[in-house]
Amino acid sequence: TETYLEAAAASGPLNAYIAHTSELAREQAKAADARIAGGDAPAMCGIPLGIKDLFCTRDVQTQAASAILEGFRPPYESTTTQQLWDAGAVMLGKLNMDEFAMGSSNETSTYGPVVSPWRRNDGGNTDLTPGGSSGGSASAVSADICVAATGTDTGGSIRQPAAFTGIVGVKPTYGRVSRWGIVAFASSLDQAGPMTKTVRDSAIMLSAMAGHDPKDSTSANLPVPDFEAALTGDIRGKKIGIPTEYRMDGMPAEIEELWQQGTEMLRGAGAEIVEISLPHTKYALPAYYVLAPAEASSNLARYDGVRYGHRAKLSQGEGVTEMYERTRAEGFGKEVQRRVMIGAYVLSAGYYDAYYKRAQRVRTLIKRDFETVFADGVDAILTPATPSAAFGLGEMNNEDPIKMYLNDVFTVTVNLAGLPGVSVPAGLDSQGLPLGLQLIGQPWKEAEMLNAAYALE
Ligand code: GLN
Repeated sequence: TETYLEAAAASGPLNAYIAHTSELAREQAKAADARIAGGDAPAMCGIPLGIKDLFCTRDVQTQAASAILEGFRPPYESTTTQQLWDAGAVMLGKLNMDEFAMGSSNETSTYGPVVSPWRRNDGGNTDLTPGGSSGGSASAVSADICVAATGTDTGGSIRQPAAFTGIVGVKPTYGRVSRWGIVAFASSLDQAGPMTKTVRDSAIMLSAMAGHDPKDSTSANLPVPDFEAALTGDIRGKKIGIPTEYRMDGMPAEIEELWQQGTEMLRGAGAEIVEISLPHTKYALPAYYVLAPAEASSNLARYDGVRYGHRAKLSQGEGVTEMYERTRAEGFGKEVQRRVMIGAYVLSAGYYDAYYKRAQRVRTLIKRDFETVFADGVDAILTPATPSAAFGLGEMNNEDPIKMYLNDVFTVTVNLAGLPGVSVPAGLDSQGLPLGLQLIGQPWKEAEMLNAAYALE
């Protein structure tokens, strides 16, 4: 813990940590020592973690990287972080992220962008994005300023940053990990999961994070398997699907090659490789960017200047309406405002059928695509995690949000269908930057999915 606290304190240029909780970390580490001495040491005991700022942590600043939550110190702890502390883990601090988890580059944070520890090997000095929205988590794990970190994934926010920084990131089946106490973005898509150096670490950490929680009505009442015990590396006879529709035009040849290599590795380990079709894939991104903002506009209505954080100053004669308006105009960043407006628009009486309802239908079709291939005996699906390697900070044109949204093309289908997905490091591109492969599993079959990921590692 001391070593990591020191490394974290010296990591300012990455801008990954937005709060250090050193005192708490030392207390937790002492308690962990006592448990170890007493012979009662679960696998997470004494492991120093970074926590994404989306998780409510008792008495510790929690802002979802937004100015609107300025000064908010929750009087409660999220279920999943509580489970980690109960398992003996240690909190080093809170990690930077995109504001309210909206973004793919960590550039929408009120604390400014996170820098990836990776560099292109062309000698250029460009600071690269670690991806987003869990960019602080990815940068911190990759830079060894925590052993592992929590992330959340609504449309790819664990898997894309994991791919950009050469680490492992797991988005569990919807309902596997409690959402209670995690600031909501799009409630029907949000899931928390581990971001770690290895598949084994992810398996151990997921076992600690998962489980039924009566405080989250969408949490599944299912036993949590010992995910680590499932890592045998034996995938003989498993059927791995390669979806035709993920072969996108204009995808870099290097990604195509690593995908092929991954396929050969799984075949070499005894898996059966089959071509599959997920015909509605091309509608996933537009459906996601209707549904996620719709849910966000509703979830973010609570930030009104009355209940939490920032409240705008009023002039003489101004009333509550001006207070709401000005608080939200001052407190929300540009991307969050864009999402709230899109969401309110697609939910409005005149456009509900044309946008929201249609997107919900598309979501059902996407879910059925997966159900069909799983019913045909496919155990897991292998795809690239992202359509490119990490890009430079400021390199994406901020005036064209669609370009940024295209980053999520391989990840959003998994959230729409509620499935588990994992991003595993697949190798480096010609610039020396990491690329990831994604495995998508059957619902509740994280153990099998992680075992296939283990065979790829
Ligand atoms: N990049 C996607 C978005 O901006 C996904 C974010 C996430 O998974 N939280 O919505």
